[in-house]
Amino acid sequence: MYSSAHPRAYSACSGCSLCRLVCPMWRARRDPCYSPEGIAKARQSGAALAELAPALEACTLCGACDPVCPEDIALSAMIMALRRELPPHPELVALQVGYRQAAESAAADPAGALLLPGAAMRADPALHEKVTALLGIRAAQDDGADIAVALEIGGQIAPQRLRRFLDGLDGRGLVVGDGLLLAALRRWLPAARLQGLGEALGNLNAIRRRIASADFYVIEARAYHADHERLVAHYDALRKESGCAMNLDLQRIAMPPHASAYPGLRIGSAREDLAQARWLLQGRNPARIVVENAAEREVFRRVADVPVLHLAELAASNEEIHHA
Ligand code: SF4
Ligand code: SF4
Repeated sequence: MYSSAHPRAYSACSGCSLCRLVCPMWRARRDPCYSPEGIAKARQSGAALAELAPALEACTLCGACDPVCPEDIALSAMIMALRRELPPHPELVALQVGYRQAAESAAADPAGALLLPGAAMRADPALHEKVTALLGIRAAQDDGADIAVALEIGGQIAPQRLRRFLDGLDGRGLVVGDGLLLAALRRWLPAARLQGLGEALGNLNAIRRRIASADFYVIEARAYHADHERLVAHYDALRKESGCAMNLDLQRIAMPPHASAYPGLRIGSAREDLAQARWLLQGRNPARIVVENAAEREVFRRVADVPVLHLAELAASNEEIHHA
């Protein structure tokens, strides 16, 4: 893997096709237009935005293409930027506005670490409560839900709204459930103590010791690809201790179904999500599936006849927490 401090633009694409190997939308469609290479090459030849729209909307923003590109092109960032030029999905704009209004009326958070749960966990109050209890942190009053939607759909983020959100977070420890928001926060708050939800939960002994060798562990792709050089040690240790299989194995490099929990989101389709989950499970015979992302739990439950649990659900109720 090649990495430099300054990612390059689509004009650097050499057409090596390495990014196709890891791209779930290429795998689902087998059409070169639906790949990071296809989008980069189309940009090089001056394709109109309308021609690129289907591929831009089909991209899951999983980030798997970023670390494999030998030219170090910031591919998922390029796709997010192009999405911002497309007309946004009206239902999701309405959702974003609703979240923003709720954030404007939120009280300031007391000092201490905060959880920014993400859409799927916010929709599951029992899981949300369990996660805050396990981590011993409170959920943020302003959890940036509108900003996460804007990142997902290519919506606009007003500078004053972003400033208000970040002012409340600067200097805190943060656990972030939404991988896109986590990646953005790494850019916006480089000195912050940030962790993805999977990493934070996986560091708890109450959970870590319950990951079993017969488990198939599904890493949340966006959080992983946003910080893979550091996280590879975390997941290597987890795999070594437990003996579990992971979606990092067999070249199926952290490519789960669409990570979004937003109903009506125009990217991909439910059928593709199910196909992707089946492919991840192909040739495996796990006794249980453990996911980091609550949205993926629902998808795997539809294709697997073994228990599918969120990582937090591995811990017993009222369990004493020790950090690993
Ligand atoms: S972010 Fe994921 S789906 Fe989108 S182009 Fe890259 S690998 Fe393909
Ligand atoms: S991996 Fe990079 S250089 Fe190679 S085809 Fe994809 S975008 Fe182009």
